[in-house]
Amino acid sequence: MKKIRLTERRPLIISGPCSAETREQTLETCAALAATGLVDVLRAGIWKPRTSPGSFEGVGSEGLAWMGEAKRLTGLPFGVEVASASHVERALAAGADCVWIGARTTVSPFAVQEVAEALRGSDVAVLVKNPINPDVDLWAGAVERLISVDIPMGNIGLIHRGFSYFGHGKYRYAPMWPLAFEMRNRFPGMTMICDPSHIAGTTEYLLELSQTAADLRYDGLIVESHCRPSQALSDARQQITPDELEKLVRSVSWRAESTDDPQFVRSLDRFRQEIDSIDDAMLGLLARRMHISEQIGRVKKDNDVAILQSNRWEEIRERVLDQADNLSLSRDFLNQILDAIHIESIYRQSSVINKGD
Ligand code: PEP
Ligand code: MN
Repeated sequence: MKKIRLTERRPLIISGPCSAETREQTLETCAALAATGLVDVLRAGIWKPRTSPGSFEGVGSEGLAWMGEAKRLTGLPFGVEVASASHVERALAAGADCVWIGARTTVSPFAVQEVAEALRGSDVAVLVKNPINPDVDLWAGAVERLISVDIPMGNIGLIHRGFSYFGHGKYRYAPMWPLAFEMRNRFPGMTMICDPSHIAGTTEYLLELSQTAADLRYDGLIVESHCRPSQALSDARQQITPDELEKLVRSVSWRAESTDDPQFVRSLDRFRQEIDSIDDAMLGLLARRMHISEQIGRVKKDNDVAILQSNRWEEIRERVLDQADNLSLSRDFLNQILDAIHIESIYRQSSVINKGD
């Protein structure tokens, strides 16, 4: 069996059920995935950290034996989630080629340290999912803990699976792509793959998320697949059959990063100049807007009026969102911009109001 080289295959495709449930379901799913010829690594959850108690918590070590069997049957390496030293020991003993630290474990430095210590000296691939809360330092901290127990950088990879947030958006977890870019800046060259299954929470957004990941130069995907998704004991709504996985992977285009074609270089240059000058104009307008906010702060101070007038803010929001369709800008995007402007504006007004005379 060849060792998994994270830096070798592009795109790297990892797939398998959210959870190993029975021997039959595990083997049937894994065999069908291997038959597509598109999957590099099989996955399955063996111990499931669930947000709410009472949900299916995984079959435990028994499932490792099924994954070992799937590996022998298909010739493909396999990976499982680990959250403690005993998980690591059992996974390695069962021949796992890859382990990953789940989103609910990356948030816990004690757990990550325990997993890291148990992995010391091992040459399996170790993938680190982003923490469930949007905190890049925690994500980076987990990677640093692995590096500090001498796991080679080339054996460490990142999985972007989206972040939990208050409220309801299109996806179950918000991708917050810039946080993943920040991780890429901190660990240049480290393999980063996208987990569209957990971001989306349902099957309908898998293709658009996978294509976005490909467009953003991710190195691959980890996608949940189950031979009978509707009967899955965990994450039933987001799992696809191996046939659907094949269709998904074939539909994503992994375009080249660049080309030397002079026509391409010229058009790109022209558009980039245009973008740069639009950015300059926007920044100039934002600076002017903030300057006016400070003047409003002064007027409020002179009249002893509080900074926040929520009616006025709702008026602004409504006025802007009314233009969303005309401008072909999504309401989500406009809301994010407005929130950022509002926070900065309040901050500027409050620094004027609270400054001594
Ligand atoms: C999983 O991959 O099945 C899983 C539990 O993922 P996450 O840790 O991203 O929630
Ligand atoms: Mn899952």
